[in-house]
Amino acid sequence: MSYLKNYPEIENEIIKCMRCGNCQAVCPLYKETKSEGAVARGKVKLADAVLKGELQYTKDLAKIFETCLTCKACAANCPCGVQPDKIVLAARAKLVKERGLPFIKSVIFKGLSSPGLFKTGMALGAKTQGLFFKQTDKGMSPRYPVSGLELRRVLPKLADRSFLSTAAEVNKVDKPKMRVAFFTGCTTNFIYPQVGEALLKVMKHNNVEVVVPKKQHCCGVPVLLHGDAETATEMARSHVNIFSKLDVDAIITVCGTCGESFSKHYPELLKDDPEYGEKAEKLAEKTYDFAQFLIDVIKIDKTALKPVNKTVTYHIPCHIGRGMNAGSQQIELITSIPGIKYNPLKQPDRCCGGAGSFSLTHYDLSYQVLKHKLEDVKSTGADILVTGCGSCRMQLTDGIAQEDLPQTVKHTVELLAEAY
Ligand code: SF4
Ligand code: SF4
Repeated sequence: MSYLKNYPEIENEIIKCMRCGNCQAVCPLYKETKSEGAVARGKVKLADAVLKGELQYTKDLAKIFETCLTCKACAANCPCGVQPDKIVLAARAKLVKERGLPFIKSVIFKGLSSPGLFKTGMALGAKTQGLFFKQTDKGMSPRYPVSGLELRRVLPKLADRSFLSTAAEVNKVDKPKMRVAFFTGCTTNFIYPQVGEALLKVMKHNNVEVVVPKKQHCCGVPVLLHGDAETATEMARSHVNIFSKLDVDAIITVCGTCGESFSKHYPELLKDDPEYGEKAEKLAEKTYDFAQFLIDVIKIDKTALKPVNKTVTYHIPCHIGRGMNAGSQQIELITSIPGIKYNPLKQPDRCCGGAGSFSLTHYDLSYQVLKHKLEDVKSTGADILVTGCGSCRMQLTDGIAQEDLPQTVKHTVELLAEAY
């Protein structure tokens, strides 16, 4: 049974913690708050009591478990191999089971889990965004104070047309080397369709046929992160249904969170499902971040790349680096492009503080974390800040606008597409 529903399974994780406190040194939130409740050690102890039923739901308790970026820095640096991010998710799921979801979250998750409703809502949002947001030279900013949206916040414009509504379902090439399915993710589909177009261009130049299943929708991780394991499991089933019917060699993603949904969360959520468990495992085995696929699987011909004369730096998204282990392949792609001057960040894998909706619900704290990243970016003198995740891109773009920095932010695959 999934660790989200089964206490003995997560207990094996909890008992590994020897309370050494090493996680304090790497937790971006502990650095800002100096609170034991923010760091893995404190959360592991509290989660134990929550999961055993010794501590019941309170608002304060829920707040403690919400205050985590699930950045996995603690897990990566834990001498005992504890995965605190999993323990946090299990505690969140238990609290949601006890208390239910707040009304607004249940409405949002209902929308996210209903592909038709979500698509219609986003199309309507793209048409009416001018009523709620004003266009500035840096992006879109809220016209009115809305809960979770600071007036000063700079957000990207929703695309006039989603990527899935314009992309061909099968993108053929002559003599294909391989055939892959592309899971786009919500940010590429609704906000940055140019990332999807760049992916298709890169794959075409590498003789890879790309199938873009039109029925795909949100991966479900935002729902899972808020403790709604039931809805996330339904969304996992839906995608396993869609993707396991395809005759493809691999599933490709351009976002670490989406990649992890197929490679880790779906097999975990569907572990004991007699119909979907094995199918989810099979999909997980052939899921790659696009950079892993290009470097490790098809081993792209780097001599075919044309020069791009820019100075760039690269932020490793937590779920690309620690989640998918694809950070080095993304950097290899960037540094393979002739003409690129690569000025690395001092701490490329430090969390940017975005963490999906965390930057909406905890803007000030999220911004404090982001400030460290922005200082690092400033010192590189780069023209372009490259990253491999739409959610990090939104967070970094806001910070760059707030601090009036000169960098533009691009996805790794967009930079690579410029070299073809
Ligand atoms: S989670 Fe790991 S690093 Fe943190 S206190 Fe426990 S054992 Fe130490
Ligand atoms: S996942 Fe990140 S934010 Fe959460 S406790 Fe671990 S280091 Fe801190």
